[in-house]
Amino acid sequence: MEPIQIELPTIFESMTVNTWLFKGPEPTLIDCGEKTDKLWDALINGLKINGLGIADLKKVIITHAHLDHIGMAKRITEHSDATIWVSEYVYDWAIHLKMMLDRRTGVIMEVMDKNLPSEIKEAYFKFGYDELADYWDEIPKDRIQVFPMEGSLNFGGDDWEIIYTPGHCINQTCFYNPKNGYLLSADMLLPIIPIPIIDAGLRPPYNRVKTLPMQLESYKKLKKLAITKTFPGHFSAFENALALIEKQENKIHVRKEKCFELIENGVTQVIKMVHQVYPNRINDATIFMVIGLLDILMDEGRIEHQEIDGLYHYTAIKKKVVYSQ
Ligand SMILES: [Zn+2]
Repeated sequence: MEPIQIELPTIFESMTVNTWLFKGPEPTLIDCGEKTDKLWDALINGLKINGLGIADLKKVIITHAHLDHIGMAKRITEHSDATIWVSEYVYDWAIHLKMMLDRRTGVIMEVMDKNLPSEIKEAYFKFGYDELADYWDEIPKDRIQVFPMEGSLNFGGDDWEIIYTPGHCINQTCFYNPKNGYLLSADMLLPIIPIPIIDAGLRPPYNRVKTLPMQLESYKKLKKLAITKTFPGHFSAFENALALIEKQENKIHVRKEKCFELIENGVTQVIKMVHQVYPNRINDATIFMVIGLLDILMDEGRIEHQEIDGLYHYTAIKKKVVYSQ
């Protein structure tokens, strides 16, 4: 059974988010959008076109804990008997929202403090509880069902493999149907390269994890699957996932090399690299991306940084010349 796309509005300019509907055997949604009245109306309308109402919903399965995918879940529980299915890694976000947002904001601001002049920091990075809590509710514990990070889930009349794919989000899962090659890809596979949003690790001491290197590993994982059609969290369904993955891997590689070239030529600060790699596109997405590219270069042992006046400056590591006898 192919999922039905219901496209919903978001608070992010010009972006929409998908909920994917399986009408049977029990009405199920994959993700549910954020909590706004506008989205609620669009959801009711989308279900109505398919002969359903909110009260008919039995399951809502959440791919990852970002507000545009999970925010509306509680409101759905107030108007239906639906159970909200979240992964082990999403569970804390579902029941301790402020704690998790504070934790994430802490690591984002730590990175930004070391990498950006203060005026840039103030203009972006509205990722905290105060900015997001209006659109995102915690979910009542007795309405949650937790699923593991691997194994399978049954919905839409099929068993779907749970594929843990951190990168854009540290707790993100995709669902793959080996029978027909369908992939519900969340924000792991999109027609555009997903933003590697900075986040804290899953375990104490909850230090920052390197999300772009994780995204590259998740691409590798998906390349092993025989995907025939992809149903993403944003934009329309598409075929040929493999070509898209390779295109995105290549683009990341090219931009990483561009950063390295800049560093070799004496550009030491993140914001200057963002200006060069993404001209006229200075925003939180491009800043996250450049931080991610630098993470890869650090992992490759090609660059290092030192703190000068509170800001990191990046320099290339000179290769040691080894003389043979
Ligand atoms: Zn999203």
